[in-house]
Amino acid sequence: MAKPPLHRAAVQIQRCAQGLPSLVSRLLQGPLLFIYPPTCAGCAQILESETPAPFCPDCFKALDLILEPYCPLCGIPYLAEAPSRHLCGDCLGGVHHFDRARATGLYQGLFREVIHRYKYRGQLFLVRPLAKMLAAPAKELSRLHKIDIIVPVPLHPKRLRQRGFNQASLLARRLGSALKISVDYASLRRSRWTEPQTGLTRRQRAANVRGAFGLKTPENVRGKGILLLDDVLTTGETVNQCVRVLKKDGGAKEVAVLTVARTVEM
Ligand SMILES: [Zn+2]
Ligand SMILES: [Zn+2]
Repeated sequence: MAKPPLHRAAVQIQRCAQGLPSLVSRLLQGPLLFIYPPTCAGCAQILESETPAPFCPDCFKALDLILEPYCPLCGIPYLAEAPSRHLCGDCLGGVHHFDRARATGLYQGLFREVIHRYKYRGQLFLVRPLAKMLAAPAKELSRLHKIDIIVPVPLHPKRLRQRGFNQASLLARRLGSALKISVDYASLRRSRWTEPQTGLTRRQRAANVRGAFGLKTPENVRGKGILLLDDVLTTGETVNQCVRVLKKDGGAKEVAVLTVARTVEM
């Protein structure tokens, strides 16, 4: 089906924007957030019809989606042969503070590339397809848990100034408006600067983020069911600290964690 010239032009600009530095790319894309047609988040080709996922069939096949079997609590995928519905070693050992965690896919291949383009190259139009991928697991979590508010994992103010946006907050805003759940951007704060977690052991990672989060307004989370949202679950220690603060300091009733992707070397 022939697309209107405006749509074709918008896609051209979007493709060009992918190769530009972050700020220029964002300035170009701003107006397109309102006019560009649904395109594949992987290769930017126009999606022919309303597809359930914001990827063309080829890119969708290239995504490492997390499908059953996986740990019913933390969502870590098992080998295909493993029996489902049993807890993984970490969950049996009581490592996590959250009530449940889900991720759409593995942080590798195309998922990693798309998240990198969104987060480090400022391709903010990707917030829409990425949030769309979160809708189904968010609905699943809301059937299993009380969810009153969405809380994005906060960035340290210094990191926020460097990046210009909080990738988790933008995803939370999209998801919140799609599912009609309010978003609390202000209660959870990142009060201490932490170095990147890569290359650290689990023990070192835990120490690195200990005391990094605090609550500005504990009364806003008391007794609430919370969906804690982030782009990637890497070490698990960051969300663990957030959940600890929300529950222990704030008195949150339940906290479920949702991320676009996750690594498996937790
Ligand atoms: Zn594609
Ligand atoms: Zn588990």
